[in-house]
Amino acid sequence: SYERIGQVDGKVKAFLKLDEENARAAAKALDGQLAAGSDSRGLLFGLPIGIKDNIVTEGVTTTCASQFLRNFNPVYDATVVRKLKEAQAISIGKLNMDEFAMGGSNENSSFQPTYNPWNVEYVPGGSSGGSAASVAAGEVYFSLGSDTGGSIRQPAAYCGIVGLKPTYGLVSRFGLVAFASSLDQIGPLTKNVEDSAYLLQAIAGHDSADSTSANVEIPDYLSALTGDVQGLRVAVPKEYLGEGIDPKVRDAVLSALKVLEGLGAVVEEVSLPHSEYAVATYYLLASSEASSNLARFDGVRYGVRAENPKNLLDLYHTSRSEGFGPEVKRRIMLGTYALSSGYYDAYYLKAQKVRTLIKQDFDKVFENYDVVIGPTAPTTAFKVGSQVDDPMTMYLNDILTIPVNLAGVPAISVPCGLVDGLPVGLQIIGKPLDESTVLRVAHAYE
Ligand code: GLN
Repeated sequence: SYERIGQVDGKVKAFLKLDEENARAAAKALDGQLAAGSDSRGLLFGLPIGIKDNIVTEGVTTTCASQFLRNFNPVYDATVVRKLKEAQAISIGKLNMDEFAMGGSNENSSFQPTYNPWNVEYVPGGSSGGSAASVAAGEVYFSLGSDTGGSIRQPAAYCGIVGLKPTYGLVSRFGLVAFASSLDQIGPLTKNVEDSAYLLQAIAGHDSADSTSANVEIPDYLSALTGDVQGLRVAVPKEYLGEGIDPKVRDAVLSALKVLEGLGAVVEEVSLPHSEYAVATYYLLASSEASSNLARFDGVRYGVRAENPKNLLDLYHTSRSEGFGPEVKRRIMLGTYALSSGYYDAYYLKAQKVRTLIKQDFDKVFENYDVVIGPTAPTTAFKVGSQVDDPMTMYLNDILTIPVNLAGVPAISVPCGLVDGLPVGLQIIGKPLDESTVLRVAHAYE
């Protein structure tokens, strides 16, 4: 891993921090275990993994790609990191992202942009852009990302790899720096679907440290990879192939659906009528939750502290002005406004109601279908710099991934061909806690 990182990371810039000393010590311990003749091996024995920098790692800085947390050195591991250690994976280092996971191109990192390994003039997607690029560039075997509105699936699509957002509550959020707590989920970014099943197996499961963690039996995801989709019922929402979708992306998705039909699946068109409200609903709710979650960054408890403040208010004000980047400030202002008295009913409460309608759209379709399939994103990766000054266009890239977070259901992005030399992602959405079917369909198609 480190050799490969040395060769390519100067161009891709996926890593914010390498943790070589600990990684070598961990590898040595595993060697020792082998030499001692032990044949008990963890599920991910010796596999090099990268971790998005909003997942806390004991003794290794966790910055969320923000100046605010540039010195933040956590004193504990996130539950997922503990589980990776138990599975004997080896953490290689921390991966770049959009600041506090707000963005879709990695251009909002306050340290450096990450570039798409397929063509470094293009963005890798975001916010888990470092996680996707590091896997696509062969720097790590797999990585962890987080997905609040598409941040695992969209960069996986842009970088031609597999990204899975689990059902809300399946993977513990303990130790994930909160962006929008009712939407955030951690999940795997991998080269193929089998690896995704392995990594999910290692990180899923109930955690009493996360009050929203689902207390359910975890199935054997690997045994779901049968290759059989005979008779499977696939719904294709007409809203996901209509206006705003690049025709070449649409064609790639239609060919993928033909492949599934060839394997015996039944493909039919459906409607998710409230899809058009998803982006507005998400940006209201996510920003509201973010404005509340990010109130903890006050210059007292975490991260940087302004020097020589005049008084307490000035300490808060200056620390936050200096510590947060422009996109984070935009979201905090939007969210604070939406939650403020007089506007709460018109914006936040209304958005919650529309969220329920969007979830009910899915419930209805899942009465008759096993999965919903469409593109992961309306286009392939865009050029670095081409959308930075246009937040609305940037937000619209999430139009096909956001409904999934609002509904809390699982979805995977798998590569489905190239358009003009850049990868396209196929999104397979499943019923709550039915990761097995999502993985089975993705694996059969792959
Ligand atoms: N691009 C979306 C946003 O900016 C999604 C981010 C995410 O999933 N973390 O909010």
